[in-house]
Amino acid sequence: MSKSVESRVSVGRTTDARQLNSAYHRRVAFPSELGNSTSRQLSDTSPTLIVPVGSTEQHGPHLPLDTDTRIAGAVARAVIERLTAADGDTRWLLAPPICYGASGEHEGFPGTVSVGTPALRLWLVEYGRSAANWASRLVFLNGHGGNVEALAAATALLRYENRDAAWLSCLAAGGDAHAGHTETSVLLHLSPEVVSTEHVLPGNSAPLAELMPQLRAGGVAAVSEVGILGDPTTATAAAGARIFADMVDDCVERITRWTANRDGMLT
Ligand SMILES: [Zn+2]
Repeated sequence: MSKSVESRVSVGRTTDARQLNSAYHRRVAFPSELGNSTSRQLSDTSPTLIVPVGSTEQHGPHLPLDTDTRIAGAVARAVIERLTAADGDTRWLLAPPICYGASGEHEGFPGTVSVGTPALRLWLVEYGRSAANWASRLVFLNGHGGNVEALAAATALLRYENRDAAWLSCLAAGGDAHAGHTETSVLLHLSPEVVSTEHVLPGNSAPLAELMPQLRAGGVAAVSEVGILGDPTTATAAAGARIFADMVDDCVERITRWTANRDGMLT
């Protein structure tokens, strides 16, 4: 590259970076994303990094394998939009999602890929140690119940090491457990094109506590042949919009409070 071209390019980059930095203060309508940022744009910003954590696991005959990742990713994006609008001084950054988790209970159903709790825990610890070199705070925003044990252990260790990491889950009050009314409604709201409505079937709606011994011994297949815990036949996009809004509200409140329990979970 000739000297004159090089200096033109670097002038252009400086201008771009300045424009982007000033955009942070203009309450942008879209969140900043780790994946499409440059390293230079992040220098001297100390952002709070929000990392969606999902799974790749069966969700009955009607929902895609990435249901949990989709929900965690969409909630994280909406949370960052809200937080950015409310607090123009804090830099919020959306990370690419972690798409695989601990889904051993769904083994046996084609498409499920589970790395298990020990591997996920180690992954989260090393992720946190690396990201904490430049991010001031780190939040794992979880979409899958099976990941909780790894999240709690990893985040507790990161905090013990004086890294400001925390986690929280997308929660729906009174929701059913898996691929039922709750998740099907949220997907009908977020991405109806991926819901196979013609294949919606009722699953096992018994309380989780009652199913637990069988679930522990034989996984989801032992209690529901179709892989559903709950009833997706009642799902609607309107219900999904309400559930999604509740999830976002809850996460915004807990992230704003930034009070973690001994497991590193934001309360
Ligand atoms: Zn799910």
